[in-house]
Amino acid sequence: MPKSRVVVLPGDGIGPEVAREARLVLEQLCPEVQLEEQLLGGAAIRATGEPLPQATVDACLAATAVLKGPVGDPEFDAADVRPEQGLLGLRAALDTYANLRPAVLGDVDVLIVRELVGGLYFGASGTREDGTVFDTCEYTPRQVERIVRRGFELARGRRRKLTSVDKANVLETSRLWRRIVDETAPRYPDVEYEHMLVDNAAMQLATTPQQFDVLVTENMFGDILSDLAAAVTGGLGLAPSASLSDGGAGLFEPVHGSAPDLAGRGIANPTAILRSTALLLEHGLGLPEQADALRTAIDAAIAAKPTPDLGGTATTDELGTAVREQLTVDGARVPSYGG
Ligand code: NAD
Repeated sequence: MPKSRVVVLPGDGIGPEVAREARLVLEQLCPEVQLEEQLLGGAAIRATGEPLPQATVDACLAATAVLKGPVGDPEFDAADVRPEQGLLGLRAALDTYANLRPAVLGDVDVLIVRELVGGLYFGASGTREDGTVFDTCEYTPRQVERIVRRGFELARGRRRKLTSVDKANVLETSRLWRRIVDETAPRYPDVEYEHMLVDNAAMQLATTPQQFDVLVTENMFGDILSDLAAAVTGGLGLAPSASLSDGGAGLFEPVHGSAPDLAGRGIANPTAILRSTALLLEHGLGLPEQADALRTAIDAAIAAKPTPDLGGTATTDELGTAVREQLTVDGARVPSYGG
């Protein structure tokens, strides 16, 4: 069998600091997996002039899975070429249309399923002669059908409740969305489903998140709601995501950004990228045992060595080391790399 290949894109700001911890964990847990680093975002613009160099696209298309740190740097805030364009281009190139964002804490266990390659972030945009600036939200029926099906499938594997979030009282795209959800539902009679307007969904997530199992929604609503879900389940430093296509390499990344306020200080919480690594092990490499081992090690390590965002004083490196020290599979400690 050919070796699995994981492309690591460290990204910008705190990206390289937290990606380093993820890489060390992967090396320890599955030394047989081939790791390769490529450039994306601001780091890529500095080196090549482009936020998504062709070499990065080619490596990701040939990979088994991609592990990505955050991109974005204030240095490029006023520039025409921005790091975030590289991220959107990569999602489109891999066609990772299904973004899974689990948010778990105590009795809250929500999975946000966000459409990732359509809608407002990918529609036509520009400036007219009179100074009007516009962005366009478009969805094809196929784009909606495939993400809605994913939502139902994922709900079927969990508590069998799906909440579809839209703004059908105002938006045409939302009315298409709602119609497709209603047409798809009869194929999943074992899944209970409901529609919810996005403004109400935000309020319900903030006040009674326990009521939700799977939420399925379009790109921008999902972007905003998943940060909210992260906030009510421990903060951005903890929130992972998996972006899946139909058969191609998945993209695994933390929900948070490059945190320019923390970059270079060695105190960013690596948990979100480590939890994304657990999703990569499970969904990208088909190694559920290693994924569980990593999740257990992370939970134990953050209880013992919390970083400043969790009220503690541990550095990125100290928490990462604690995770690696806790790693066990089948009750046996996984030796540190080379140990
Ligand atoms: P951010 O997520 O970088 O930071 C928001 C807040 O959360 C900050 O206070 C930050 O210190 C904190 N935070 C984030 N990650 C943390 C971690 N691992 N540990 C501890 N605290 C953490 O959001 P922002 O400041 O709005 O954006 C900064 C840059 O990141 C922008 O350029 C933005 O475009 C980019 N961004 C990229 C992605 C991505 O690559 N997927 C996602 C969101 C934002």
